[in-house]
Amino acid sequence: MKSRLIRGLAAAGQLRVLAVDSKRLVEEARRRHTTSASATAALGRALSGAALLAQLLSKGRRERVTLIIDGDGPLGGLVAEAGVDGRVRGYVKNPDAEVEPRADGKLNVGALLGSGQLRVIRASASGEQYDSTVPLQSGEIAEDIAYYLWQSEQQPAALLLGVMLAPSGEVASAGGLLLQVTPDAGEEVLARLQDNLSRTAGFSSLLLERGLQGAAQEVLRGLDLEWRAPQAANLEELAIDFVCRCSREKALVALSYFTPQEREEMIAEDGGAEVVCHWCGAKYTFSPEQLRSLNAREQRCPDCGTLWYESRADGVEVVYPHERCKCGRKVDIVKESPSA
Ligand SMILES: [Zn+2]
Ligand SMILES: [Zn+2]
Repeated sequence: MKSRLIRGLAAAGQLRVLAVDSKRLVEEARRRHTTSASATAALGRALSGAALLAQLLSKGRRERVTLIIDGDGPLGGLVAEAGVDGRVRGYVKNPDAEVEPRADGKLNVGALLGSGQLRVIRASASGEQYDSTVPLQSGEIAEDIAYYLWQSEQQPAALLLGVMLAPSGEVASAGGLLLQVTPDAGEEVLARLQDNLSRTAGFSSLLLERGLQGAAQEVLRGLDLEWRAPQAANLEELAIDFVCRCSREKALVALSYFTPQEREEMIAEDGGAEVVCHWCGAKYTFSPEQLRSLNAREQRCPDCGTLWYESRADGVEVVYPHERCKCGRKVDIVKESPSA
C-alpha cells in the first residue's frame, strides 16, 4: 500500500489528529541509502515526523519543512524534508552507523544520534523562511519534535513515531501519530490521553497489528476519534512519497563550481565525473565532452581564475558582483552572442 496521511478530530474537536503510514516511504529511503537497522529507524522517524509537521505547520500548498538533527553520536546527524504536497526526502550522514538495541529490544535511536540539536526550517513558496533550533531531549526524535512544537510554536502536542524492521532487514511497519492539543482541551481529556499514551508500547507494532486507522483508534480509545469526512477537506488522505528535486541539470551546475583545471583533472583521473545526490543517492555521470562544455558557459579572470560570469545549465545567469576582481583586475565580461 502507498504511504498515506490522514486527519481526524477527537474528543469533540479538543484534539486534532494527524496519522501517517510511511512504510513504503521509509523502505524506499532505506533502499536508496542502504542504511543500517538503527539508521533506518532514525531516518524513518524523522521522515515521518517531517511529513506530519509539514501538514501541521504549513499554511500554503507549496510550503516545506526541513528537520536537521546534529548529534555527537555515531550517525553524525540527519536531514529530513517534507512538502505539504506529500513529497518527502532525506538522508543520514553515516548510513552504516550502528548501535546495540535497547534493553526492551527497540532500536536505539537516542544513542545513535547522541546529544545535539534539532533545527527546524519552514520555507514558504515566496521564499520566506522561519528557522528555529532546540536542544535534543532524548534523541528519540518524537519527543524532540514535540519539544520543538512546544518551545518554538507554542503548540502542545503528543507525537508517536515508530519504525519496525522485519528479520530480512526490510521495513515491516513505519508511521506516526501527531495529536495536537487545542486550547479548548479539558483536564479530563488530557488525563485520559496521558493515560492512554503511557499504556502504548510502540506505534509501529500497533500499526502492524491494526493498520493506520486502527492504531490511531487504539491510542485514542475512549476519546471519540472521528476521521474527517472526504468532502470536508481536500487533504483528508494525502499520498506520501519519497521524491527528490535533483536533476541532471542541477548536477551539472554542481560541477561548474570547479575550475576548468580541476575538471580536466577529473577527466584525466576518472575519465569524466560522477555526481551523487546526497538527498536520494541518484548518480549522474558526465563524459569528458559534457564536462568541457561547461568551459564555454563561463568566463574567468585571466589572472586568478575567479569566476566572473556563468550561464548555468539550469538557465540561471551568475555575474561576479564587483567592479574589480579579488586579485584587483578590472572585471571585463565579454558575453558571446548565441550564434558565435
Ligand atoms: Zn536527489
Ligand atoms: Zn582575478
